[in-house]
Formats: sequence, structure tokens, C-alpha cells
Amino acid sequence: MGNSKEIPYKIYLEESEMPKQWYNLRADMKNKPAPLLNPGTMKPMTAEELGQVFCKELVDQELDDTTPYIDIPQEIRDFYKMYRPSPLVRAYCLEKKLGTPAKIYYKFEGNNTSGSHKLNSAIAQAYYAKKQGLKGVTTETGAGQWGTALSMACAYLDLDCQVYMVKCSYEQKPFRREVMRTYGASVTPSPSDTTEIGRKILKEHPGTSGSLGCAISEAVERATHQEGYRYVLGSVLNQVLLHQTVIGLETKTALDKYGIVPDMIIGCAGGGSNLGGLISPFMGEKLRGERDYQIIAVEPASCPSFTRGKFAYDFCDTGMVTPLQKMYTLGSNFIPSANHAGGLRYHGMSSVLSQLYHDGLMEARAVEQTSVFAAAEEFARVEGILPAPESAHAIKVAIDEAKKCKETGEEKTIVFGLTGTGYFDMYAYESFNNGKMSDYIPTEEDLEAGFAGLPKVPEDLM
Ligand SMILES: *Cc1c(COP(=O)(O)O)cnc(C)c1O
Repeated sequence: MGNSKEIPYKIYLEESEMPKQWYNLRADMKNKPAPLLNPGTMKPMTAEELGQVFCKELVDQELDDTTPYIDIPQEIRDFYKMYRPSPLVRAYCLEKKLGTPAKIYYKFEGNNTSGSHKLNSAIAQAYYAKKQGLKGVTTETGAGQWGTALSMACAYLDLDCQVYMVKCSYEQKPFRREVMRTYGASVTPSPSDTTEIGRKILKEHPGTSGSLGCAISEAVERATHQEGYRYVLGSVLNQVLLHQTVIGLETKTALDKYGIVPDMIIGCAGGGSNLGGLISPFMGEKLRGERDYQIIAVEPASCPSFTRGKFAYDFCDTGMVTPLQKMYTLGSNFIPSANHAGGLRYHGMSSVLSQLYHDGLMEARAVEQTSVFAAAEEFARVEGILPAPESAHAIKVAIDEAKKCKETGEEKTIVFGLTGTGYFDMYAYESFNNGKMSDYIPTEEDLEAGFAGLPKVPEDLM
């Protein structure tokens, strides 16, 4: 096959080779992800109900379990061309440093101002909001990448953008906030007194540093209390995973050009969007029985949704205002320990990935944050890129696997997702460099407390 061709350090695609359609993995899943439920009636959410919170066309994408390919509107494709196709890099320098016979590739999504893959879905969501004639959108942001990406997309389309930023992050990352404001967004630390749910949380937990689940509640409330606004979300939902398939589709096209077939695909998992997007075309082949791949989700040991969570219906937020989603979850009131610096702190997981994991089609590993930062630095020193802590979870497992290959002599081909850059995470790096970073693994009791808050759902729906 094409293996005789020398593989360049970076495999770029032509603009004409970029995907024109997103791939909807659900169409190929035999066991579809469970439907979202209305927590009041315990009935599947209708398009009409979802349309009160989300943009209409995005609701259609959310509920579409059957259409395998969905056209990417020309305006979104044009926007993608400003920062895509993203390079697929052969990590020759890392391979050499590790002395491994493994061949390592990474798909780098950090080449845009938001510093992550989030822009792929932000532009799509903003586009549909604009098309619907809305004035603006509300959202939450944790580490800040999603808020930045959305503010960029909204600025481009002239939409108002209101961001609720988890308070500890708002205070730790003032420059993240300022980038969002530079793109015209308004940024409020969460919990705040601008919403009913925010005031309630502040009263019950004075001095709280906030959480993603809590910021989601506030953003949803803001969207539903303003005329001409809808709520948008940067991960977890089916539609987000769909938009992120540009990552996997480009990766597949680039690998195919050189006849490369990966043995193993690795990605970090917060809410599951980058991993879902990266693996979709490969998982599709696996589901259709065409080819097999080992697929590994990597999560923090301090927020272990897959590896220690329950597969159950749960709220997507702390204030319990969102629909119920069946997923691997730690409980919507689970908040990772305060010393958690490495991102990926969401309590739940994409329902698509949850179903695939439940069906044994992919694996998951939990890693401790000091080992993640050690891997991040090892990678940065040889490959040059300063990775986001989230991305470094994937790096950690890719390095572990490459080291195993060194022992066994296997020449495995490993592909991992390098989702973004870590320039705004230097407090976390500083704490690691000063030897001050510690690991925290929740106890069984911590987890039980989270599970105790799971909503009661009729047996036949479980
Ligand atoms: C948001 C984010 C993640 C995690 O989100 P997923 O939806 O799981 O992909 C990972 N890496 C970076 C850089 C991010 O910004």
C-alpha cells in the first residue's frame, strides 16, 4: 500500500479534501443512545420542548439517530477554512525520545485563538442561532476554551454572547475572560446573583468556587428568561459530537492518503466531544464490522465518570433544570476536589460514548494529574507544543502504550487527539513545577454521596 511513501512530519490536507458533511455515528449504532427525558413527566423530550432551550435546527440534529451524513452549510465550511484542516503530526521526536518501535500520530486542534477543538462546534451552533433570527446565546464555560470559542463565533456572525464562567476559573484565568470580552462577549462569574438558581446556590453554599453544572443551570435560566435567546453547550450533547466529527474525518482522510491504519485511538474525555468526534469514522467501521480498532478514553482519576461512574439517567447540571440524560455519571452534585487542576471536571459523559462504552466497544482509563503533567512536559520538551492539561491525559496514555511497545517490540500505530494548547493553564503548570501539585482520588464515600443524588427513574426506562 502507500507505506512505501515516506511519512512527513505533518500530514496536511488540501482545502478540497476537507469534509463537506458531518458523520452521524448514531445512524450506525445498533443500540442507540437512550432518549433525553423530561424530568417532570419522565417522557422523552419532544422537539418542541427542546426548542424552548435550544435552536431549532440543533434540536433536529440532537434527535436524529438515523441520517448518517449531514451537510455542513457553506458558511460554516468557509469559517473552518480559516483554521482548518488541522495538521496530523507524526511524533517522530517523541518516538525517538521514548525509543519505541510504535508509530505515534496526533491530530492537533490548538491552532486557533480559542486554543482548542471547541471552535468546530461553536461556529456551527452560532450559525444555526443566527439563521433562526435570534439575538444571542447564553452558555457556561469552565476552563474557558468553550467560552472563548463561542465568543469568536458570535463576533463573526454578529450575535450577542453571554457567558457564565465557573468562579474559580474566572479568578484564576483573568486573561481567558479578557479574550472573551475582546471578542465582545459578556462574562459573569458563576454562581452569580443574576439568576434565581445562582442566588439559591450562593445562599446554600456561600463562598463556593462554582462548578460547570452550576454554571449550566444559570446559563439555561438566562436563555429561557430573555426574548430571542437560546442556550448552547460546548460538549456532552449529540449535536456537539456530530460537529466534532470534522476531527475524525480529516484524520481518516490524512491516514488513508498514506495507507496508514491505526491500531489504537486515544483521546481525553471530559464530556466526550473531541473523543467522539475523533473516533466516529473509525467506530463506524467497527460497528459495521469492516475493521477493528482499540479505542481508549482517558479521564482524570479525580473525576472518573467512565471508570467509576454509574450508567444511569441524571441531570446535566447542578440546579436540576436540564433534561435527564442516560450516561456514565458521578451524580450531578459531584464536584471534583479543589486541588483538581487538570480540566475534564464534568460529572457526566456523552450518551453516545456512554452507550458504546457500555456495549464494550471502547475502553476507559483514569490517570492521576501529577502523571498527566509529567507527560505534558515530556511531550512539550520534544514536540514543542505546550499542551492543554486536558489534552495531556491523552498524551499520558499514548506514552504509556508506546513504552509497552518498546518492551514487546510491537510496531503499533497510535493516534491520539491533541485537543489544545495550555497557555492559560500556567498556574497549574507552576504548581506542578514547584512540586506542590497533589493527586486526589475520590473515596467510595465521596462517590456514594454523588450517586445518592441521582434522580429516581422508573425501572422500565433504565
Ligand atoms: C473542553 C476541552 C476538552 C474536553 O471536552 P470534550 O468535550 O471531552 O472534548 C479537552 N481538551 C480541551 C483542550 C478542551 O478545551
